[in-house]
Amino acid sequence: MRLLIMGAPGAGKGTQAKGIAAHYEIPAISTGDIFRANVKNQTALGKEVQRIMAAGDYVPDEITNAIVEDRLGQPDAEIGFLLDGYPRTVVQVGALDEMLHKLDQELDAVVSLDVDPEVLIARLLKRAELENRADDTEETIRRRMEVYTAETEPLLAMYRERDLLVPVDGMGDVDEVLERIVAALDAKVG
Ligand code: AMP
Repeated sequence: MRLLIMGAPGAGKGTQAKGIAAHYEIPAISTGDIFRANVKNQTALGKEVQRIMAAGDYVPDEITNAIVEDRLGQPDAEIGFLLDGYPRTVVQVGALDEMLHKLDQELDAVVSLDVDPEVLIARLLKRAELENRADDTEETIRRRMEVYTAETEPLLAMYRERDLLVPVDGMGDVDEVLERIVAALDAKVG
């Protein structure tokens, strides 16, 4: 299984990615997690992306693409993977296409998690309380929503045209949504 999971900030991508990856026994690769780990450890990369992330902006494509290419080349990703939070721009879509072409691989499906906008904001504000993420302040949340709408939402149409999009209702509790995703993926990919 080679999958992407997409959705607005707060749609539950990270949580569902873990469940999907466990179900299909593939690694979940989150660019956000990779960046956060680098910020935490204050690596050169971490220092470079820290301010960008805290502002709710996107890390430049060249940096992000290089990280994903490196990660997809690792042995555990040979059997499949789930990319969480990548691609997020049209340029990243092109870069991923090239990476997969080089690896002689193809995507099987792109899950889009659909959640009402008011629920997204409420979830993000709750996560701000629980996880203390630097990019979950009210101002940054607004900025991340804007960037998502401008840069990432258009990718859904691109994957729909490729007949890869699997839209799933992301409202409800975690297990219920996971069941929906797995049922939709099994129906699509078999
Ligand atoms: P996430 O955990 O996926 O919400 O990502 C947190 C932050 O990391 C984002 O708001 C961006 O600043 C950065 N980030 C993660 N993935 C990407 C990506 N594919 N392209 C650019 N920036 C990213």
